[in-house]
Amino acid sequence: MKMSVIGCGYLGAVHAAAMASLGHEVVGIDVDPAKIEALAAGQAPFFEPGLPELLTENHDTGQLRFSTDVADAKGFAVHFIGVGTPQRRDGGGADLTYVDAAVRDLLPHLSPGDLVVGKSTVPVGTAERLAELIEPTGAELAWNPEFLREGFAVKDTIEPDRLVYGVRSQRAVDILDEVYAQAMSLDTPRIVTDYATAELVKTAANAFLATKISFINAMAEIAEVTGADVTQLADAIGHDVRIGRKFLNAGVGFGGGCLPKDIRAFSARAEELGRGESVAFLKEVDAINLRRRQRVIDLVKETLGGSAYLKRVAVLGLAFKPDSDDIRDSPALDVAVQLHGLGADVIAWDPEAVPNAGKAHPQLEFADNLEDVLRGAEAVVLATEWKHFRELDPVATKEAVATPIIVDGRNVLDPVAWREAGWTYRGLGRP
Ligand code: NAD
Repeated sequence: MKMSVIGCGYLGAVHAAAMASLGHEVVGIDVDPAKIEALAAGQAPFFEPGLPELLTENHDTGQLRFSTDVADAKGFAVHFIGVGTPQRRDGGGADLTYVDAAVRDLLPHLSPGDLVVGKSTVPVGTAERLAELIEPTGAELAWNPEFLREGFAVKDTIEPDRLVYGVRSQRAVDILDEVYAQAMSLDTPRIVTDYATAELVKTAANAFLATKISFINAMAEIAEVTGADVTQLADAIGHDVRIGRKFLNAGVGFGGGCLPKDIRAFSARAEELGRGESVAFLKEVDAINLRRRQRVIDLVKETLGGSAYLKRVAVLGLAFKPDSDDIRDSPALDVAVQLHGLGADVIAWDPEAVPNAGKAHPQLEFADNLEDVLRGAEAVVLATEWKHFRELDPVATKEAVATPIIVDGRNVLDPVAWREAGWTYRGLGRP
């Protein structure tokens, strides 16, 4: 099929490249000339495993083009909308200006029979409003929320765990089935529904995941005052298949360009709908999550004798999760910035996110590699659970630092091994 993908960020660039690799003819469109220039040259503008290979492969076949001009979407049958929906500056709601602009700019280039497919995460009710703009052109709208995980985005796009179509016609279902023919051939579960349900599926999924993380972090808070070990608690309750062990890792909390802003947008939308109380718990979920960042900072101060002032603190990790360079609402970066604000002599390193972190926070000092970040540290904070840090050897690491103190903000190190090697080890919710 011939399709355009409007918005080529973490979602759209991967979607465009993945669709081309499935044999579709794709044009990716973005208003950011630097991003388009990189993509057109076959280079990934951000770190995502597998994306560079897809871009190179499709660059050579000519199945994938990129442009800053939305007019280049003309003549294509399917148009994905994958632009950002960040948090509004003046509150918790979603900022829909990019989605609105993308649809408005696309309207003059639509032909009767085209299918516009929303993938951005939007407040319930958005699709219905956009359909009123699109339908007079003779084109149709579907909402097809995206569930990819950064770090696994290529696989999640090509082999999604489910497909959700919010549609108004069988024709839209048929077109989407053709788009996702490969996933359909693998018996991927497919839910065909209305706009409101499709929009809510995405919001509800993220609200549930955020709640699960904050639940175990709340248990960590209780464990901290009782001497219990939250990691053992998580293992034990996780054996119950109704609960499950995934997303039950206590630590410095969630971040990124999705969960934090999506739960805030959900609360704001529920309030607009007069049902604020239905998701009032999401405010607690958010509060628990943010408290964990403070807990990590408090542990650093505590282990340093009450103050981090002028102490050399090495922060390991800046991205909001491993295998990504995404620093949006990153707990790791937040901890580094806050420690710096307390007068600590912070040095940070991340395998991929240093350039983004440096642009956002030039006041921080960044190391070039793992050896440099550790050298002379008086305390170490493991803030993002990259493999590089999970596999640190406590004996060798002790040689590099000035004082063997580690705050494991992700509970990924073995406390016994680190203590045996002579470290002061502190995790979250663990004795
Ligand atoms: P992003 O900020 O990385 O990308 C958004 C892109 O849209 C940017 O490159 C921007 O320049 C472009 N853009 C803005 N206005 C435009 C316009 N009018 N025309 C063309 N391009 C325009 O954001 P993202 O992480 O890719 O997220 C996009 C959407 O997908 C959001 O709604 C997000 O919640 C949702 N989502 C993201 C993920 C994820 O893991 N990143 C997963 C599922 C859903």
